[in-house]
Amino acid sequence: MGIFTFNDLLQHFPYRHVDKSKVSLVSEISVNTDFILLTGVLMDFDVIGQKGGKRLVAQFKDKSGMLELTWFQGINWMQKTLQSGQLYLVYGKVGFFQGKPQIIHPEMELLTSEMEKGKSFLEPVYPTTEKLKTRGLGAKQIGKLTQTLLSILQEKVIPENLPPNILKQLKLTSRFKAYRQIHFPQSQQEYEEAVRRLKFEELFIAQLRMGMLLSNRHRFSKGVVFDKVGDLFNSFYKEHLPFALTGAQKRVIREIRFDTAKGRQMNRLLQGDVGSGKTIVAVLIMLLAVDNGYQACLMAPTEILAQQHYKTISSLLEKVGVTVKLITGSTKAAERKKILNDLSEGSLKILTGTHAVIEDVVQFKNLGIVIIDEQHRFGVAQRARLWQKGPVPPHVLVMTATPIPRTLAMTAYGDLDYSVIDELPPGRQPITTVHRYESHRSKVMDFIKTEMEKGRQVYIIFPLIEESAKLDYENLMKGYENVKAYFPEPKYWISMVHGRQPAAQKELNMKRFVERDTQIMVSTTVIEVGVDVPNASVMIIESAEKFGLSQLHQLRGRVGRGAEKSYCILLTGSKLGNDARERIRTMTSTNNGFEIAEQDLRLRGPGDIEGTRQSGELNFRLASIVQDRPLLELARNMALGLLKEDPDLISAENLQLKEFLHQQKGAILWSKIS
Ligand code: ADP
Ligand code: MG
Repeated sequence: MGIFTFNDLLQHFPYRHVDKSKVSLVSEISVNTDFILLTGVLMDFDVIGQKGGKRLVAQFKDKSGMLELTWFQGINWMQKTLQSGQLYLVYGKVGFFQGKPQIIHPEMELLTSEMEKGKSFLEPVYPTTEKLKTRGLGAKQIGKLTQTLLSILQEKVIPENLPPNILKQLKLTSRFKAYRQIHFPQSQQEYEEAVRRLKFEELFIAQLRMGMLLSNRHRFSKGVVFDKVGDLFNSFYKEHLPFALTGAQKRVIREIRFDTAKGRQMNRLLQGDVGSGKTIVAVLIMLLAVDNGYQACLMAPTEILAQQHYKTISSLLEKVGVTVKLITGSTKAAERKKILNDLSEGSLKILTGTHAVIEDVVQFKNLGIVIIDEQHRFGVAQRARLWQKGPVPPHVLVMTATPIPRTLAMTAYGDLDYSVIDELPPGRQPITTVHRYESHRSKVMDFIKTEMEKGRQVYIIFPLIEESAKLDYENLMKGYENVKAYFPEPKYWISMVHGRQPAAQKELNMKRFVERDTQIMVSTTVIEVGVDVPNASVMIIESAEKFGLSQLHQLRGRVGRGAEKSYCILLTGSKLGNDARERIRTMTSTNNGFEIAEQDLRLRGPGDIEGTRQSGELNFRLASIVQDRPLLELARNMALGLLKEDPDLISAENLQLKEFLHQQKGAILWSKIS
């Protein structure tokens, strides 16, 4: 169970307590009774039934009546330990069998004289396993070990770690007392106080660590200086911007400019919902780097997206005479050699590409900034390699359209600076999202026909789940044939893109769709992020019940990018599980990525949310960032407030905190780079 030390045992918290002062009577049992605690005499017991149906049945009697207790497992053990004629405390869940109440696998405890006196106390129940139980380490025995441990522990072994003023202000129980009370509380209130204290401590320490990383980077990191806005930036901004920037885009660019001018390394997360216009921000920031004599690099998670960025950015920057190159896995050797040479010489200023740009052979002369689009596809280790590409670490801007709930952002990205584009470009019409059953497929096909007649283009997305790649592939092919039957050539042309195609074929299919040679794009989720075809106005998602919320939202974000009214149609089978139904309901009721992210967090829990780091960093022992949100915010405010006043924790009242952090050191240390 992961218990190796006394400390582990202390941290093995009970999942509930049984109030042994609240004894009921057998005669009080009704069909509504759930868990119940009884005292009485164990009469006789016997093994009945054969083989699979073999069970131990005991008759239990209190002053009001009789009740049957039944065991299906551990029969031998129970037979050995039960003593008929003795007084027992019996606890368990009441069930009914042929109209008679019974308790299956009750907890049994010989009644001691102390209990008989009716002393009120809450008994902890600990998580354990069947295997441990048969070896005599059931919930109760774990409790006994813990009790013994607590009885010999002195306060100095569990010293206070929170500063006195915080304890006082929040009226928190001391650490030593909290550990006692969470295991053996005298009352429900004591238990709750202990839990609150320990949860706060967990969250506060985590926030403090994040805050210290942030503050240390702000104070001590060395960074490339972008202190002037030069000709390239200015002439592009004044003469070649394809549209007026939104207020949010301007603000974010200011934030980044400010941050990169200070001589410290920027490590910033830029969030903006799908279609909010992050690419142009990246372009302007890259120009800022070049104006200051540095190189810039933009990294994308997929070949398709890298291609698209390359095209968009090179055609934009052509106007100011800046060359852009692309490196992906399929870049030809000769071309690659030339690019690598120009990069290390410094004549090539801007590079776009896939993760191929972080290979060691790619050496820059003076890399000033790395922009990572849709970062959740990149692992920490990969990013750390980028970090090493220059004597002074480049600035890092991570762009993501996967909205991250506030609490998650605080816990998972609390050490990053943060910008958000919270405004969509003007003139966008909200996307209409509907749910249709597969049985209405032909109606859906009729609908897209009328849209195509208006000149619009359509995406049809099929799920791709790793575990059953072959089956998914067959589904995709079947789907493709099906669409083709509805929309035959030469009136209609269809592009198809999926993970098994060679890069060149993917690219060709994508290109034909972008250039409107084809009206329909049949694809797996490879087009999930970033792809930008403003004329496409209908997104059909097949087997939508198989997708997660953030994926559905990303896919929907492929439409609604132009001036035309756009639609997202979620096709599902007729049988939907509760969670799937909830996801579909969420999608049809809101377009707001942040609302969707909050819902996603509620449905799946923090560990599984895309766009976050490894779940381990979000797993607290007691606290939950979903349920304990107010406490988390409090902990964050307290931690940041404290660091503002005493960033190095040198004041007397913060000494014990500093000591504690020091002892824990090495337990969790994030890499310097997001
Ligand atoms: P995302 O944030 O999802 O990466 P993009 O950068 O791909 O968004 O932008 C989405 C679309 O909106 C693109 O077609 C882009 O040209 C357009 N766009 C971005 N900013 C503006 C703006 N301020 N006004 C009008 N259109 C814009
Ligand atoms: Mg994008």
